[in-house]
Amino acid sequence: MRKPIIAGNWKMNQNPEQTREFVNAVKNDLPDTNDVEAVIAAPALDLATLIDAAKDSVLIPAAQDASVHDKGAYTGENSPKVLAEMGTQYVIIGHSERRSYHHETNEEVNEKAKALFRNKLLPIICVGETLEQREAGETEDLVATQVEAALAGLTADQVKTLVIAYEPIWAIGTGKTASADQAQEVCAHIRQTVAKLYDQTTADAVRIQYGGSMKPANVKELMAQPDIDGGLVGGASLKADSFLELVHYN
Ligand code: PGA
Repeated sequence: MRKPIIAGNWKMNQNPEQTREFVNAVKNDLPDTNDVEAVIAAPALDLATLIDAAKDSVLIPAAQDASVHDKGAYTGENSPKVLAEMGTQYVIIGHSERRSYHHETNEEVNEKAKALFRNKLLPIICVGETLEQREAGETEDLVATQVEAALAGLTADQVKTLVIAYEPIWAIGTGKTASADQAQEVCAHIRQTVAKLYDQTTADAVRIQYGGSMKPANVKELMAQPDIDGGLVGGASLKADSFLELVHYN
């Protein structure tokens, strides 16, 4: 049984004060962590506040990116070692906004995954196609290539613990959600890809999220799909009441 994981990706929204208010508003109403993992990936500037405010609750703190290096002369970067020391558990890597605005490659995403495991952090690895790629029928090959590259050199035991987020770029922040069937089809293909690269046991353990305009109105249908184990949610995770509806989808 894969444990569902709903993660808010706040992107560059919220300040420390808003972060504390949000946590105070949700922390006593979150689902049991044995039923659903509730995660917030805050901007680096809000992480210390998030971790402090969430310390007596089941809310799981996450970061939105990390350096491949633990320390050194890397101006502007965030150390995975320090993220772990602070109490971060998950780190999103390879988000399409980082791939497009910061030119992150599949190889860098792989280096980041290794840096996270070295520091006992768990990656949420984002993959997904543009509208052009979907229309050209390239989705499955592209996503399989992204998954294969991101996982290169990781052991089956590591892969069993990580999360892959399928986020069609055309559905992110656009209000256009992939239909439950479209999302299921690609998530199933991702699982088959993991089975080919490792084995069926590993593929059955890895959790796959859907992301792209997920909201309270569509979360239930998406989560009912056999290969969708969670959501990576931007806009709809910013308000406490909406986040609570998402984590209580069932
Ligand atoms: P959205 O963003 O829910 O606002 O579409 C999802 C994401 O980019 O992770």
